[in-house]
Amino acid sequence: MAVGADVIIIGGGVVGCSAAYYLAREGVSVALFEKDSVASHASGFAFGGVIKVLGEKTWDVCGQLSLYSERLHFELGESLEDESGVDTGYRRVPHVSLALTEAEAQSYRREYLLRADDHSIDVRWLSYGELSHIEPRISPDLDGGLYVGEAYDVEPYRFTLALWQAAERRGASLHNREVTSLNRSGDRVTGVRAGGESFDAGAVIIAAGPWSGGALTQLPISPLKGQIVRLRAPGPPVNVSLWWNGDYATSKTDGLVWAGTTEENAGFDDSPTDEGRDAIIASVVRVLPYLENAELVRQTACLRPVTPDGLPIIGPVPCLEGVFASTGAGRNGIQLGPAMGRAAADLALGLDSHVDLGFADPARFGAV
Ligand SMILES: Cc1cc2nc3c(=O)[nH]c(=O)nc-3n(C[C@H](O)[C@H](O)[C@H](O)COP(=O)(O)OP(=O)(O)OC[C@H]3O[C@@H](n4cnc5c(N)ncnc54)[C@H](O)[C@@H]3O)c2cc1C
Repeated sequence: MAVGADVIIIGGGVVGCSAAYYLAREGVSVALFEKDSVASHASGFAFGGVIKVLGEKTWDVCGQLSLYSERLHFELGESLEDESGVDTGYRRVPHVSLALTEAEAQSYRREYLLRADDHSIDVRWLSYGELSHIEPRISPDLDGGLYVGEAYDVEPYRFTLALWQAAERRGASLHNREVTSLNRSGDRVTGVRAGGESFDAGAVIIAAGPWSGGALTQLPISPLKGQIVRLRAPGPPVNVSLWWNGDYATSKTDGLVWAGTTEENAGFDDSPTDEGRDAIIASVVRVLPYLENAELVRQTACLRPVTPDGLPIIGPVPCLEGVFASTGAGRNGIQLGPAMGRAAADLALGLDSHVDLGFADPARFGAV
């Protein structure tokens, strides 16, 4: 038996690295197992929006988790660069949900009226005229948009790496190995098997993104592919995060306009495609016509971990004591990552979670 740790984490994405960070901060011995490299999948290639998605159907259910994660992002924005030596690019970038049709405009106006008395959220309905003062290159064909002032952005790769580096500085260890199975004694986990060796642990956190089912558990997690293009365009940066019809665009700290996205059921194939590129460019040009002749600098694709009910899975894995899952954040994993990692860390330490996680209980899918 190889030397293990108090807690083994499977998966070096934003959730696993957040869990490692919070455990290492408590002085717990942590071993992170990553089959490829830290942030080499969705957590390294996401858009990086840290955004309250008002009106989303899941908001009522996991809004508290989202708000809690926003607070953690804020704290990390203050401290993580010093703790890790990595600039995470955390910054405030106002968010605008654009209305492409009159029906959308009406729905956003209703949303605004619902939130108008809540002074904790800076939310406003902006007509096209008002919007054009913020970003004059937005197409005049649009009706306006719902503006949310308190929205943030990170560089997802550097953010995930920073969480890991900060954990490593506190003694966490990285094993570049694929975990092939969990070891057990009766109903209790005793560690993991990776690269033909066994590693013991008191608790195991499964944060393996879309790979969290299959060999590790029977959790119903599947991959949903998404693509992004990075464009070089003349003129000043787009200083707001624009969202429409599930697509988005903003200028990132590398000076490029990042635009996305697609939702594709392509199994575990995470290669970029010409169809994905063309669809994204057609969509972004509709909203920001000045990008028509922009230079394509890079195209990426990665896999979101999704669940059948669209909600994350966070909690003890049924029938196997000592195993905790934290995955299934879908399109919101960068935003929810710190809270999901923190929750998994608390569970592994036997502590109560900071927010009610009943909605995310893995047991809702039956015995897994
Ligand atoms: C195009 C796109 C844009 C996105 N934009 C945003 C956004 O703006 N805001 C937002 O909040 N979210 C966004 N997301 C969603 C977000 O990226 C994901 O929800 C999040 O990164 C998932 O993180 P994770 O840690 O659960 O999984 P991952 O990042 O997939 O990490 C899991 C890790 O586990 C490793 N692993 C798997 N199996 C094993 C094993 N058996 N042994 C060892 N290691 C293993 C993998 O190699 C991987 O590195 C976006 C996603 C996509 C695709």
